[in-house]
Amino acid sequence: MASIGHILVGLAAARVAEPHARLGARLYTAIGLATLSLLPDLDVFAFRLGIPYEAPFGHRGASHSLAAAVVIGVAVALMWRPPRRTLLRTTLLCTVVVATHGLLDMLTDGGEGVALAWPISDARMFFGWRPLPVSPIGRAIVSLRGLEVLATELLWFAPLLAFGLWPPRRDHAVQPP
Ligand SMILES: [Zn+2]
Repeated sequence: MASIGHILVGLAAARVAEPHARLGARLYTAIGLATLSLLPDLDVFAFRLGIPYEAPFGHRGASHSLAAAVVIGVAVALMWRPPRRTLLRTTLLCTVVVATHGLLDMLTDGGEGVALAWPISDARMFFGWRPLPVSPIGRAIVSLRGLEVLATELLWFAPLLAFGLWPPRRDHAVQPP
């Protein structure tokens, strides 16, 4: 993926977190959740450290696992609480946002699989159906191939974009007595 799908997950999650807020008011939440959704890809620095792609801490390794999603989700929820959300609901939201990263990468048509079950298993996994094109890594993303991946992702994730930009839900107006 070229990351646009992960960013749109964050945008849509911000609307779930703050359904009554206008788009401008939930902008920081959207940026925060998009960052959370992208977080597992910080592991690309493993390449610079000489850690092989297929190693447990290589790209798409431990950081893309469900265990990492739970740890990050709990940690973030302890520091951030959107209005009208309990700790449990915030933890669930943050965990799901991070977990979608690995799951979406498992729908891509290239690279190594995802170590979803780490630390129980180092096995790299893909789904049987892989409609998303894998993105070139690093500077190679600025290329015709990178643009093609971006356009394909925009098509696939258009529903999340629409949901994320949808006007806020209105509460039923309380009539004064
Ligand atoms: Zn990834």
